[in-house]
Order: sequence, then C-alpha cells, then structure tokens
Amino acid sequence: MPLPSDDQIWDRVRSFAERCKGAKLPVFSLRDGVPNFITETTDTKIYRLSEKNRSDGRPSAISRRDVLLLWHHLVSETPRPDVPYFTRALLARALDDLLVVADNDVLLRTGDDARTEPPREHEKLAARAWDFLIKRAGAGQSAFYSELGEAIDRFQRALQPILELIESSCARENTPRLAVLVVDKTTKRPRDGFMIDERQSIDDERARVFAFPWDRVPNPFGYARHGETQQTLAEQLVRGTRQPIDVYRLVLARGQAQVVFRAALFEAYDCACAFCGLAVQECLEGAHIHPWSASTPEDRMNPRNGLLLCANHHRMFDAHRIVVGTDYKITSQTSGTTELRASPLFERLRLPALSRHHPDPRLITLRNERMVRHD
Ligand SMILES: [Zn+2]
Repeated sequence: MPLPSDDQIWDRVRSFAERCKGAKLPVFSLRDGVPNFITETTDTKIYRLSEKNRSDGRPSAISRRDVLLLWHHLVSETPRPDVPYFTRALLARALDDLLVVADNDVLLRTGDDARTEPPREHEKLAARAWDFLIKRAGAGQSAFYSELGEAIDRFQRALQPILELIESSCARENTPRLAVLVVDKTTKRPRDGFMIDERQSIDDERARVFAFPWDRVPNPFGYARHGETQQTLAEQLVRGTRQPIDVYRLVLARGQAQVVFRAALFEAYDCACAFCGLAVQECLEGAHIHPWSASTPEDRMNPRNGLLLCANHHRMFDAHRIVVGTDYKITSQTSGTTELRASPLFERLRLPALSRHHPDPRLITLRNERMVRHD
C-alpha cells in the first residue's frame, strides 16, 4: 500500500482527534513539527516517551512516517480478530518499536482505557445483532444488511466491524458462521469482508446455521449488556477489582473467556513471552498452567494460573517439553540437545512486575503432578 502524503496523514489525524473529543483515546502531537496540538488535553495523563518508555537515554522522537505507521496500527479500519484493540501497554510497545531519532518530540496522551475504537459500543451492538440473527436462524431466514441495521439501530455501513466480531466468535467457538445470514439485497450474498472457506459454499454454511441449536449456546457478547467489554474485564482481572469467578460467570462463551484471559496476561506480562521475551504481539498467547479442562471456574480466569507465551513455547509447554518449577526455574525436557537452539529459553520465568500476578506455586504443583500421572 503506498504511503499517503503528509497532508493526508495529518488530515486523518485531525479528523481522528475530532472524533475522539471527550473520549479517552490516544492523541499524538509533534511539538516542533506541524501541526502542534491535535486536541486539548483534559483529565488524561501525558507521557513524554522519553520518560515513560526509554531507559537508555536516547532521544525519543518519531517521524511523520512513523506516526503514519503507528496510525495504521492504532486506528486501522481492519479490525484484528485476535487483538480486538490495543491496551495501553501494547500502545506503548507499538510506539517503542517505531521510535527513531529525529527532531521532533512526541507526546503520547493516553487514558486508562486507550484503545483504537470504542469497542464497548461494538460489543454491545454485537450482543444485539446476535439475538436478532439467532431469531432469524430459528425461522430459517436470511436478513438484509438494512434489516440488521434497523434492528440494532446502525447504518448499514457501520455493520462490518460488528459482523466481524460475530464471525471471529463463531470461529473460536467452532459453531456455524452466523454472519452468513446477512446478505445484500441485490446479490443475495454476504458482502466482501465475509470470509468463507473456498471449500464450503455459502449455501451449505447457511444450511448449517439453520440447523444449529443456537438456543443452547450463550450469547458470546452477553457481558456487554452489563456495560463491560473484554478489555474492561481484563483490566479488572489484572487490577484485582473483580474476582476471576465473577468474570468467568459473566463471559459464558469459552472463546471469549480466553480472549479476556489473554488480554489480562498481556497486561500482567507486559506483552512478552515469559519463557524467551519474544515481544511480537501476534505470536503471543495466553497459556493456562493448570489446564482449563481440569481447572475450577475460578482458576480458569485467574491470572495467576496463566503465562503469556509465544506460540512455539506454548506448544512446547503443552507438550510437556518445557517444565516450570515452583521456584519458577525453566527446564526443557527435550530428548535431543539441538532442538531448542533456535528458540532459546530463559533460565527462570520472566515474571510480571507485580507479585500478585506471579504464577501460583499451588497451580504449578497441580500441573506438574498431573503431568507425571499422564506420562
Ligand atoms: Zn517464547
């Protein structure tokens, strides 16, 4: 994709800032570049990157091109199914990755719930769209975009991110893909953006949706009716302001629960693998120490029962090729000595900054005992 011109960038930044007024969203400002302030600062904190994120004394600055890249990261029109929005820690990391030495100082304004879009609204709308669609599924009927829009009080054009939330939820829960019911009035097909596996026809998928007992699965966005989002729940878990068991009861769909759990671990572990430090967010997953299937509801959402791991190390951990002791020492159980050379491990877990997020030795013991039994 060609990079837009500077003017185009700043137009978009300005209009973004305009839309953000009153909302707690990140806003960037170049002090010596043009333009200066994008929006007035109110109650939210201002961090100079140098103070917040740099410990090596390098000047912290960011070029316009980097702002653009960051912009794409933050407010891209393409929602990312497994990282629905950015937490403050992710935001800081994204900026950190983009830092370059230049003339401009950059201010990052961020509220506690800095994120790319107002997902609170999206998740709540997805809850309503879900109710509407399963009613249609029960009646064996498709729905036009206009009908769905009317049902949830949104313009047709604004439906795509909501349908994508439903899409990714169905994919996670491994149910038929409910969003296939929403079709264009003219073509009678879902519009571009609905991703269907080429092996499956849309008609087959629709038949599966009609046949599925939707009344037996909980609305995956039910928590949003209580004013929560995956992100607010994750934050409450990390801050300890809501008990894991309460979050578990609120988020009934397992896939959604995993998303909340992962988001909480992202915060607790500051977005890096606990075994190797890899900090590529797309590669990081939430791993349970004592497995989900064997855990109490409480421990299923307990951050102390989790590790943030890169995908490789998650697989190795699940396959018992890597073992963690109650002293947080890491041992690899590989038969060959060369296997792990390509993904070196720390000797000891990289622990969360706060001790109340550290893995619970009781759960590590449960895991290791279980592993011995199963070996
Ligand atoms: Zn790793």
